[in-house]
Amino acid sequence: DMSIHLNKVSKTYHLKGRTVEALKETSLDIEDGEIFGLIGYSGAGKSTLLRLINLLEEPSTGTVMVNGENLTQLSKNELRVKRQKIGMIFQQFNLIESKTVYDNIEFVLKASKYDKKQVPKRIKELLDLVGLSDKSEILASNLSGGQKQRVGIARALANDPDVLLCDEATSALDPDTTKSILKLLNNINKTLGITIVIITHEMEVIKEIADRVGVMSAGEIIEIGPTYDVFSHP
Ligand code: ADP
Ligand code: ADP
Repeated sequence: DMSIHLNKVSKTYHLKGRTVEALKETSLDIEDGEIFGLIGYSGAGKSTLLRLINLLEEPSTGTVMVNGENLTQLSKNELRVKRQKIGMIFQQFNLIESKTVYDNIEFVLKASKYDKKQVPKRIKELLDLVGLSDKSEILASNLSGGQKQRVGIARALANDPDVLLCDEATSALDPDTTKSILKLLNNINKTLGITIVIITHEMEVIKEIADRVGVMSAGEIIEIGPTYDVFSHP
């Protein structure tokens, strides 16, 4: 059972004598199996919030609980293992461009010490899922943007995560490709039951896919609710 709870989480950055409060006592509960969207302008604190969930950063104050565990109390090694159960996709895909589709996915399975004998079968399964079964030996650099994001999704799902975090995952794609990637994400949510958290500055993306949405501004969630409710009033 997947769950994410942020309780009064603050994150303060110190930069050249300047202090930035990227998150201000933010609380948030994300439910098992939902597609949750977080929308806001650049600098609102969306990525900071995502990095806290992905265990890449520690809160300055407050607690982050994923799957009922308080992450602030885990060792570095324990965190690394937990991170394998959190998939993430990125605006710029973050593939190794000089390697094949297959190698890009194998890379994370090796890192997680996935049973070696099962790796080829697992990669085939993942490529089938994202619709790239015939692209296994293509270099990442030769793929279109939409295909690259499909590889990104396959890689993110390789270790069978409970949650998939999407950081502006369609912002580099044209509208039609965006639609097809959102359709795939929706499918993954419905068939595999994976909770999805999407951060974006694009309202269309939220309207298309999110069950619930939080609106972020200046380090705070200023409004939250079902997408239909949040966006249906003037
Ligand atoms: P968003 O993802 O909504 O664009 P961010 O979480 O990236 O917002 O940024 C929130 C605020 O925190 C911004 O003012 C940003 O400049 C600042 N910030 C983010 N990361 C860092 C960092 N590593 N060091 C210093 N300031 C940062
Ligand atoms: P590094 O510490 O050198 O970034 P990582 O093991 O964190 O090494 O990441 C290796 C590659 O896997 C990178 O391309 C990164 O973007 C990707 N990656 C890291 N974490 C995840 C994740 N949770 N889901 C999907 N891809 C990830």
